[in-house]
Amino acid sequence: KVHSFDWSALPNTGERDTPPATGRGDRRPPASTSIDPPRGVRTLDFQGRSVELIHRRIHNLYRRPNCSRRQWLTPPSPRSSPWTTCGRPPRTVTWTGPRILSRRTRSSSTNPTPPGAPTSLGRSSPMPIPRPKSNQSSDSFVFQLPRDLPPFRSRTFKLPFHPPFTTRFLPLQWAALNNRVAVATYLIERGAAVNATDNDKQTPLHWACVRGSLPCAELLLRHGARLDQADCRGYDPIHVAAQYGHTGMIYHFKMRWNAEIDSHDSDGRSPLHWAAYKGFPDTVRLLLFADCHIARPDKEGCTPLHWAAIRGKSEAAHILAQAGGVALLEARDAEGSTPAQLATEKGHKSLGFFLANLQARLGKRSFWEEKGMAVVCLSLILGLVVMFVHLIVMAPGMTQMDVHAAGWSWIVVLTSGAGLYFMYMVSYCDPGFLDTGVKGHGNGIEPRSPVVSGKLCRNGYGRVSSNEASSKLNAALNHPELWSGNWGSMCTTCRIIKPWGAKHCGVTNRCVRRFDHYCPWMGNTIGKRNHRNFVVFLCLETVAMAAAFGVALQRLRQGGPTPPQWTYTGVVAFIVCDVAVLFPVLMLTGAQLSQVFRNITTNELSNAHRYQWLKDDNGRFNNPFDRGCQSNTVRFCQVVEDEEEIQRRVVMSVREMGDMLKEKGENMV
Ligand SMILES: [Zn+2]
Repeated sequence: KVHSFDWSALPNTGERDTPPATGRGDRRPPASTSIDPPRGVRTLDFQGRSVELIHRRIHNLYRRPNCSRRQWLTPPSPRSSPWTTCGRPPRTVTWTGPRILSRRTRSSSTNPTPPGAPTSLGRSSPMPIPRPKSNQSSDSFVFQLPRDLPPFRSRTFKLPFHPPFTTRFLPLQWAALNNRVAVATYLIERGAAVNATDNDKQTPLHWACVRGSLPCAELLLRHGARLDQADCRGYDPIHVAAQYGHTGMIYHFKMRWNAEIDSHDSDGRSPLHWAAYKGFPDTVRLLLFADCHIARPDKEGCTPLHWAAIRGKSEAAHILAQAGGVALLEARDAEGSTPAQLATEKGHKSLGFFLANLQARLGKRSFWEEKGMAVVCLSLILGLVVMFVHLIVMAPGMTQMDVHAAGWSWIVVLTSGAGLYFMYMVSYCDPGFLDTGVKGHGNGIEPRSPVVSGKLCRNGYGRVSSNEASSKLNAALNHPELWSGNWGSMCTTCRIIKPWGAKHCGVTNRCVRRFDHYCPWMGNTIGKRNHRNFVVFLCLETVAMAAAFGVALQRLRQGGPTPPQWTYTGVVAFIVCDVAVLFPVLMLTGAQLSQVFRNITTNELSNAHRYQWLKDDNGRFNNPFDRGCQSNTVRFCQVVEDEEEIQRRVVMSVREMGDMLKEKGENMV
C-alpha cells in the first residue's frame, strides 16, 4: 500500500527533498518477468517499497510518542510537537567518553579523558539529567521545565539564568543530549543561542551527537547551528558522532547538510581515525566510501589503520587494510612501526598475523600463484585418464573388453574430456565481476586502484577534488540501501554499492555477483556467471570417475587367460587412485547439488549466522528463497538475471514487515 505523503513537509534542503529512492527506478526488472514471492512472504509493490522506506526513515526520525502509523505520516511542525527518537530503548551511555589518543593512554586502560563528550556527566553532573520516569510521558517533563522560566515575552528575551557552574553547561545542551526536541524548541524560541558554547567550547550540536539525537540535531541545524564548529580539542560534531559510532547521523549530515566529514582535530585526527580507534566498522565503511583520506597521518604519524591495530579492532582493521592495500599496510608511524607490528606489540596476535599475511597476499599475483592449483587439478584428471587407457582398457595380457565395457570406457574418456572443457570455462570466464567504472553497476567514482597498485598519492588516495567528482560522489551516496541504514552493502575497495548477493572476493580483490566461493583448484572465484559451469564440471568428472571405477572392477572379475601379475597390480593401483580422487569430488558435487536444489550459495550457508534474513523469529536457520527443488533447479539452469533483485525485494519486505509487527506490539503495550 502506498501512502500519500507531503514531501514539502520534509527539511528544506533543496533538491534532496525528493525521495532518494527514485533513481532506483532505472534498475527495475522488465515488466515481462514474473516475480513470484516465496511462500509466506508478501512482496511489496516496487514503488510502494521505496516510498515505504522513506516513510520508515522519517518515522524513525520524527516519531511522536504513542502515535499511530497514520499520524506519523504527517511530520509534526518543529514548534509544537514533542518529538522523540524512535521507539528503541535509549542507549545506555557510560560516560567514560572516548579517550584522547596519545602515546600515554595507548597502554593504560585507566585515566580516561573524555574529549568529545560532556565530561562529568552522570558521575558528578551539576544538573540532574533530565530523564522522565518510566510512567511519565515525555510531555509531562516538557511541562516541568518551563515552570521555572519566566513567561514568554519577546523573541529577544534572554534566559535569566546561566548555570552557575564552572563548566557552564547550557540547558540547550542537555535538551540536545537527551533528544528533548520540545524543550529545545522552547529554549530556542526564548532566545537560547544554538551556537553558544560551554567552557569546553562545545555547542548543543556536539552533545546531540553524543547520543545520536538526530531529531534534535536536525532542529538545531535548521536554526543555524554550525557543523564546522570545533571545540577546545578541535572536534567538530562529525568527530563526536564518529567517536560514538552514529553512522546514520554522519550520513544525514553529509547528505542533507553537505557536511565536511574529513576535517581534522587539533591532533590531526579525522573522524575516520576515531571510528577506527573505537572500532565501528559501519562508520569506517561510510567514511571510506565518502572518500575520506584513508592514510592521513596524525601528529604521531599514525594512520587510522594504526589505531585500529593498537586497539585490536579487527573488523575495522580488515576493512581499512582491504581498502588501503599494500601502501597502507606498509605505512609507518613516527616511531617506525607498521600496523601489523603495533597489533602484535599490543597483544592482538591474530590481527597482527592477519595484517602481515594480507600484505603479502594483496600484491600482484603471478600466474603460478593464481592458476597453480588449477594446473595440478588438470594434470590429475589427465593422469587418471592416461592411467585408465593404459592400465584398464589396453591392460596387456588381458582379453579384449566386451561391448558394454568398451562403451563405458568411451563414456569415461568423453565425459572427462568434456569436463576439462568446462573447467577451462570456469577458470577463464568472468564469474560476474562488478564494474567499478561507469558501466553496469558502477557509479562513475574512481575505485581505489592507486592504493592497490602501491602508490600513495600526495593528496590522499585518488581523492575527489573537482565539483563534478564530488557531485558524482553525492549521487553514489544517495542510495536507498544507505538511506535504510544497510551499511554493509558498501564495498569500500571497489567503491560501489553492492547489489544483493554480491560479495567482495578477498583473493581476486573484486566484487562478484552472487558470490559462492573462491576455488583454488579452478584458480577463479565461483560466482553468478560460472557457477553453472562449475557444477556441470563436477558432475561430469564424478560420472567419469565412477564409470572408470566400474569398468576397472569388471576388468578384475572377468575370466579368460591369466594375465601377468603386474597387470593386476596396475588395475588395483588405478582403483586406489580413482577412489582417492572420487571420494572428495563426490562429496563436493553432492554439497553443490544440494545447494542448487535449495537455492542457496556456499557463502550464505557458511556465513548464515551473519545474515539476518536466513533466520526465522526464533533465530533458527530458514531460507526464505527456497521455492522447491524443481523451481530452484530450473532457475539455476537458466541463470535468471534478476534473481538477486527478487531476493533483495523479498528481504526488504520481510524487514519492513518485521518492523511493522514490532511497532504493532509496542503500540499494544
Ligand atoms: Zn568490492
